[in-house]
Amino acid sequence: MPSETAPSETALPESGRPAAEVLAELARLREGDLPVRGGKVTAYVYDTGRDAVHDLAATAHRELLEVNCLDPTAFPSIVALERAVVAAVAGRLGGDASTPGVFTSGGTESIMLAVKAARDARPVEGRAQIVVPSTAHPAFRKAAHYLGVEAVTVPVDPETFRADPGAMRAALTARTVLVVCSAPSYPQGVLDPVGEIAALAAAAGVPCHVDACVGGWALPWLRDLGRDVPPFDLSVPGVTSLSCDLHKYGYAPKGASVVLFADEALRRRAYYASAEWPGYTVINSTVQSSRSAGPLAAAWATLRALGADGYRELAASAMGAADRLRAGVAEIPGLRVLGDPAVPLVAVTSDDPALDVFVVADEARTRGWFFQPQLSYQGIPANLHFTLTGVTDVEALLAALAEAVEAAREAGPPDVPSDLVDALASLDLDGMTDADFAGLLEAVGVRLDGDAEPEMAFVNTVLDALPPATREGLLVRFLSVLYSDAL
Ligand SMILES: *Cc1c(COP(=O)(O)O)cnc(C)c1O
Repeated sequence: MPSETAPSETALPESGRPAAEVLAELARLREGDLPVRGGKVTAYVYDTGRDAVHDLAATAHRELLEVNCLDPTAFPSIVALERAVVAAVAGRLGGDASTPGVFTSGGTESIMLAVKAARDARPVEGRAQIVVPSTAHPAFRKAAHYLGVEAVTVPVDPETFRADPGAMRAALTARTVLVVCSAPSYPQGVLDPVGEIAALAAAAGVPCHVDACVGGWALPWLRDLGRDVPPFDLSVPGVTSLSCDLHKYGYAPKGASVVLFADEALRRRAYYASAEWPGYTVINSTVQSSRSAGPLAAAWATLRALGADGYRELAASAMGAADRLRAGVAEIPGLRVLGDPAVPLVAVTSDDPALDVFVVADEARTRGWFFQPQLSYQGIPANLHFTLTGVTDVEALLAALAEAVEAAREAGPPDVPSDLVDALASLDLDGMTDADFAGLLEAVGVRLDGDAEPEMAFVNTVLDALPPATREGLLVRFLSVLYSDAL
């Protein structure tokens, strides 16, 4: 198969190209991308519908693009900006202007720092453990993996998808360094019982992290609007750290999250310093060392441009969209919403074996909509995830969804030979090169060459039939092939 980008286009040009040519190339490369504005892509992107706000963020980003956060004494503006962003976030999440925090590149990095701080604050005999509900973001398992910590996963309540405090308590050991809960968790948008979990952690003398990455900047505004939002932030006794992504419902460009700590000693445990080399002394608050101050400036500008009123309006319209989607889904036979989402995240499953949600997603894609597939896991059925903002035209979404459902019912579930699933489950992946794996993908009819609308239902159905460890192995191979010239 020819690669999508010919070698002549990937190699460094011998002589520099004119700006107009470079930008034209960039525009051409962007042609296959999903749109980042307009609300038809209900995952990954957050659109305020206010162009002036996004333009301002881009200008601020550019203003500090080349400033390096590596040395805050060389660029004092980054200290002022970070203190302002952290204080603004802390002020609405149970802290105040003196609450210690760190501005990071995203939820994963915020979580990495919270796990590192917890590990280093509480030396234990043997391998440290963190206790996480099964709905917690994989960033915790990733942090544990990177930091040499063991993640102990506790199943959630099968009806509500909320973390189960009793089961969490039972999972604590002398090696537990952190207990985690989500406000809310991503898959179904439900709030874990933060108060109960923080209390049981405190009773055991263990720190508790609240992952408010996705909903932390929606919940305060929804509460202001009169929604029932139980306490979930740093004001809850026992909560020792909290993560909140500004590049989600903060509507800032990507690269923006905040991790807050209940005390300064814990924040210092997140820092890293090294004077063990003959170069400049290294003192970092984040995983990254050299990094652009652009995302910080953009997040700061977005917060100031929108203000609390702006966020209240955006939260009201996004939650209104989610309410309307839930009501509309109830009218479509075969579909059902999972759980009771506290923020504008809605997970929709099918109760009809003839109606496959992965096929619905493909059918919606041909109609210009992107719905995010979520695989089945520990008894939670496969479903489609919708991250809504006020810009989504929910009537149009529901019409597309109803049409996609009809088409999917007609098409039926993808025909996946059971011997293919068995063969994949017993495949020796380590013995295959990327070219072998690309050949395998081609043999089973998976096309990645861009021309056809991707038929992901087949791939998702195959993955869905496999255990998580096999899914992970195949996904790593898939990514490797995607970035290789093996296709
Ligand atoms: C998105 C998300 C994360 C990870 O954030 P990234 O910014 O993608 O690294 C962590 N937790 C929850 C609940 C999330 O939704």
